[in-house]
Amino acid sequence: MINYDAKQEKTLVIVKPDGVQRSLIGEVIKRYEQTGLKLVALKMLIPSLDLALQHYSIDPGWAKRLGDKTFETMKARGEKIPNMTPEEYAETIRTTLKTYLSSGPVVVMIWQGMNAIGIVRKITGATEPLSSTPGTIRGDYTIDSYSAGNTDNRAVRNIIHSSGSQDEAEKEIKLWFKPEEILNYRLVAEAIIYDANLDGILE
Ligand code: UDP
Ligand code: MG
Repeated sequence: MINYDAKQEKTLVIVKPDGVQRSLIGEVIKRYEQTGLKLVALKMLIPSLDLALQHYSIDPGWAKRLGDKTFETMKARGEKIPNMTPEEYAETIRTTLKTYLSSGPVVVMIWQGMNAIGIVRKITGATEPLSSTPGTIRGDYTIDSYSAGNTDNRAVRNIIHSSGSQDEAEKEIKLWFKPEEILNYRLVAEAIIYDANLDGILE
Protein backbone atom coordinates (compact mmCIF):
# COMPACT_ATOMS: atom_id res chain seq x y z
CA MET A 1 0.00 0.00 0.00
CA ILE A 2 1.11 3.54 -0.63
CA ASN A 3 2.58 5.34 2.35
CA TYR A 4 0.92 8.73 1.95
CA ASP A 5 2.18 9.98 5.29
CA ALA A 6 5.74 10.38 4.02
CA LYS A 7 4.53 12.38 1.03
CA GLN A 8 2.71 15.17 2.80
CA GLU A 9 5.29 17.99 2.59
CA LYS A 10 3.60 21.31 1.92
CA THR A 11 4.98 24.58 0.55
CA LEU A 12 3.52 28.04 0.08
CA VAL A 13 3.69 29.76 -3.30
CA ILE A 14 2.61 33.31 -4.10
CA VAL A 15 2.23 34.65 -7.63
CA LYS A 16 3.34 38.20 -6.81
CA PRO A 17 1.57 41.26 -8.30
CA ASP A 18 3.93 41.41 -11.32
CA GLY A 19 3.14 37.76 -12.14
CA VAL A 20 -0.60 38.47 -12.06
CA GLN A 21 -0.17 41.61 -14.20
CA ARG A 22 1.98 39.72 -16.72
CA SER A 23 -0.85 37.15 -17.15
CA LEU A 24 1.35 34.32 -15.90
CA ILE A 25 -0.99 32.75 -13.31
CA GLY A 26 -1.89 29.84 -15.58
CA GLU A 27 1.68 29.28 -16.75
CA VAL A 28 2.95 29.18 -13.17
CA ILE A 29 0.26 26.76 -12.02
CA LYS A 30 0.89 24.56 -15.05
CA ARG A 31 4.59 24.21 -14.27
CA TYR A 32 4.06 23.14 -10.66
CA GLU A 33 1.08 20.96 -11.57
CA GLN A 34 3.03 19.04 -14.23
CA THR A 35 5.59 17.84 -11.68
CA GLY A 36 3.02 15.64 -9.94
CA LEU A 37 2.69 17.89 -6.90
CA LYS A 38 -0.89 18.39 -5.68
CA LEU A 39 -2.61 21.76 -5.31
CA VAL A 40 -4.36 21.71 -1.93
CA ALA A 41 -5.26 25.39 -1.41
CA LEU A 42 -5.68 28.43 -3.63
CA LYS A 43 -6.93 31.99 -3.23
CA MET A 44 -6.65 35.45 -4.73
CA LEU A 45 -6.41 38.59 -2.63
CA ILE A 46 -4.81 42.02 -2.32
CA PRO A 47 -2.51 41.72 0.71
CA SER A 48 -2.49 44.59 3.22
CA LEU A 49 0.84 46.26 4.01
CA ASP A 50 0.63 44.64 7.42
CA LEU A 51 0.16 41.11 6.02
CA ALA A 52 3.04 41.66 3.58
CA LEU A 53 5.26 42.83 6.42
CA GLN A 54 4.29 39.83 8.57
CA HIS A 55 5.11 37.52 5.66
CA TYR A 56 8.63 38.90 5.39
CA SER A 57 9.14 38.93 9.19
CA ILE A 58 8.44 35.23 9.75
CA ASP A 59 12.02 33.98 9.93
CA PRO A 60 14.48 35.80 12.22
CA GLY A 61 17.47 34.54 10.19
CA TRP A 62 16.04 35.76 6.86
CA ALA A 63 17.55 39.27 6.93
CA LYS A 64 21.14 38.14 7.42
CA ARG A 65 20.80 35.41 4.77
CA LEU A 66 19.27 37.83 2.26
CA GLY A 67 21.98 40.44 2.84
CA ASP A 68 24.78 37.88 2.63
CA LYS A 69 23.35 36.30 -0.55
CA THR A 70 22.91 39.61 -2.37
CA PHE A 71 26.32 40.98 -1.31
CA GLU A 72 28.03 37.77 -2.45
CA THR A 73 26.41 38.00 -5.87
CA MET A 74 27.33 41.67 -6.21
CA LYS A 75 30.92 40.99 -5.11
CA ALA A 76 31.33 38.12 -7.59
CA ARG A 77 30.15 40.47 -10.32
CA GLY A 78 32.47 43.27 -9.28
CA GLU A 79 29.57 45.57 -8.36
CA LYS A 80 29.82 48.15 -5.58
CA ILE A 81 28.43 46.76 -2.31
CA PRO A 82 26.12 49.12 -0.39
CA ASN A 83 27.84 50.78 2.56
CA MET A 84 25.84 49.00 5.28
CA THR A 85 25.67 45.66 7.08
CA PRO A 86 23.80 42.75 5.43
CA GLU A 87 21.05 43.15 8.07
CA GLU A 88 20.68 46.88 7.40
CA TYR A 89 20.51 46.18 3.68
CA ALA A 90 17.79 43.55 4.28
CA GLU A 91 15.80 46.13 6.27
CA THR A 92 15.72 48.48 3.27
CA ILE A 93 14.64 45.55 1.09
CA ARG A 94 11.92 44.56 3.56
CA THR A 95 10.41 48.06 3.24
CA THR A 96 10.34 47.90 -0.56
CA LEU A 97 9.09 44.30 -0.48
CA LYS A 98 6.03 45.10 1.57
CA THR A 99 5.03 47.79 -0.96
CA TYR A 100 5.69 45.35 -3.84
CA LEU A 101 3.66 42.48 -2.40
CA SER A 102 0.69 44.68 -1.45
CA SER A 103 0.60 46.66 -4.71
CA GLY A 104 -2.15 44.52 -6.31
CA PRO A 105 -3.83 41.12 -6.45
CA VAL A 106 -1.73 38.04 -5.73
CA VAL A 107 -2.53 34.33 -6.03
CA VAL A 108 -1.58 32.26 -3.00
CA MET A 109 -1.33 28.47 -3.16
CA ILE A 110 -0.23 25.46 -1.20
CA TRP A 111 1.44 22.63 -3.13
CA GLN A 112 1.82 19.25 -1.49
CA GLY A 113 3.88 16.15 -2.21
CA MET A 114 7.26 14.48 -1.83
CA ASN A 115 10.01 17.14 -1.47
CA ALA A 116 7.46 19.84 -2.34
CA ILE A 117 9.61 22.67 -0.94
CA GLY A 118 12.76 21.77 -2.88
CA ILE A 119 10.94 20.84 -6.09
CA VAL A 120 9.07 24.15 -6.13
CA ARG A 121 12.27 26.13 -5.43
CA LYS A 122 14.00 24.34 -8.32
CA ILE A 123 11.24 25.18 -10.79
CA THR A 124 10.96 28.75 -9.49
CA GLY A 125 14.67 29.47 -10.01
CA ALA A 126 17.23 31.68 -8.28
CA THR A 127 16.10 34.87 -6.55
CA GLU A 128 17.72 37.31 -8.97
CA PRO A 129 16.37 37.05 -12.54
CA LEU A 130 19.76 38.01 -13.99
CA SER A 131 21.15 34.73 -12.58
CA SER A 132 18.14 32.40 -12.65
CA THR A 133 18.64 29.71 -15.25
CA PRO A 134 16.52 29.28 -18.39
CA GLY A 135 13.82 26.69 -17.89
CA THR A 136 12.93 28.06 -14.47
CA ILE A 137 9.97 30.44 -14.10
CA ARG A 138 12.16 33.36 -13.07
CA GLY A 139 14.74 32.49 -15.75
CA ASP A 140 12.15 32.36 -18.51
CA TYR A 141 9.88 35.27 -17.66
CA THR A 142 11.87 37.96 -15.88
CA ILE A 143 14.84 40.26 -16.60
CA ASP A 144 15.33 42.18 -13.35
CA SER A 145 18.53 42.49 -11.27
CA TYR A 146 19.64 43.54 -7.77
CA SER A 147 21.36 46.62 -9.16
CA ALA A 148 18.28 47.73 -11.17
CA GLY A 149 16.10 47.29 -8.09
CA ASN A 150 18.49 49.18 -5.85
CA THR A 151 18.96 52.03 -8.35
CA ASP A 152 15.20 52.61 -8.38
CA ASN A 153 14.80 51.85 -4.66
CA ARG A 154 12.35 49.01 -5.28
CA ALA A 155 12.22 45.27 -4.71
CA VAL A 156 13.45 42.92 -7.42
CA ARG A 157 10.48 41.77 -9.52
CA ASN A 158 10.70 38.02 -9.84
CA ILE A 159 7.06 36.88 -10.16
CA ILE A 160 7.03 34.20 -7.43
CA HIS A 161 7.47 33.71 -3.73
CA SER A 162 8.07 30.16 -2.54
CA SER A 163 8.92 28.89 0.94
CA GLY A 164 12.65 28.39 1.51
CA SER A 165 12.57 25.75 4.28
CA GLN A 166 10.24 23.49 6.23
CA ASP A 167 10.07 25.98 9.08
CA GLU A 168 9.29 28.87 6.72
CA ALA A 169 6.65 26.77 4.93
CA GLU A 170 4.84 25.85 8.16
CA LYS A 171 4.75 29.44 9.42
CA GLU A 172 3.79 30.92 6.04
CA ILE A 173 0.94 28.43 5.55
CA LYS A 174 -0.44 29.41 8.98
CA LEU A 175 -0.20 33.09 8.08
CA TRP A 176 -2.06 32.86 4.75
CA PHE A 177 -4.57 30.02 5.24
CA LYS A 178 -7.06 28.82 7.84
CA PRO A 179 -6.86 25.04 8.41
CA GLU A 180 -10.31 24.54 6.82
CA GLU A 181 -9.11 26.18 3.58
CA ILE A 182 -6.57 23.37 3.03
CA LEU A 183 -8.11 20.37 1.27
CA ASN A 184 -7.45 16.69 1.95
CA TYR A 185 -7.98 14.61 -1.15
CA ARG A 186 -6.30 11.95 -3.23
CA LEU A 187 -5.07 12.71 -6.75
CA VAL A 188 -5.47 9.72 -9.07
CA ALA A 189 -1.92 10.17 -10.45
CA GLU A 190 -0.45 9.64 -6.97
CA ALA A 191 -1.05 5.92 -7.39
CA ILE A 192 1.60 5.96 -10.14
CA ILE A 193 3.91 8.57 -8.66
CA TYR A 194 4.25 6.94 -5.24
CA ASP A 195 3.33 3.27 -5.67
CA ALA A 196 6.33 1.03 -4.93
CA ASN A 197 5.92 -1.55 -7.70
CA LEU A 198 3.42 -0.17 -10.27
CA ASP A 199 1.24 -3.24 -9.86
CA GLY A 200 -2.02 -1.37 -10.37
CA ILE A 201 -1.72 -0.72 -14.11
CA LEU A 202 -2.72 -3.95 -15.83
CA GLU A 203 -6.28 -5.27 -15.75
N1 UDP B 1 14.97 41.00 -2.96
C1 UDP B 1 15.33 42.25 -3.41
N2 UDP B 1 16.64 42.63 -3.33
C2 UDP B 1 17.60 41.82 -2.84
C3 UDP B 1 17.25 40.53 -2.40
C4 UDP B 1 15.92 40.15 -2.47
O1 UDP B 1 14.48 43.02 -3.84
O2 UDP B 1 18.78 42.23 -2.82
C5 UDP B 1 13.53 40.60 -2.98
C6 UDP B 1 13.14 39.62 -4.10
O3 UDP B 1 11.87 40.01 -4.61
C7 UDP B 1 13.07 38.31 -3.36
C8 UDP B 1 12.56 38.74 -1.99
O4 UDP B 1 13.24 39.96 -1.77
O5 UDP B 1 12.18 37.38 -3.99
C9 UDP B 1 12.83 37.80 -0.86
O6 UDP B 1 14.19 37.47 -0.80
P1 UDP B 1 14.69 35.99 -0.53
O7 UDP B 1 16.15 36.07 -0.23
O8 UDP B 1 13.81 35.34 0.49
O9 UDP B 1 14.52 35.30 -1.96
P2 UDP B 1 13.49 34.19 -2.49
O10 UDP B 1 13.24 33.23 -1.37
O11 UDP B 1 12.24 34.92 -2.93
O12 UDP B 1 14.19 33.56 -3.65
MG1 MG C 1 12.72 33.61 0.59
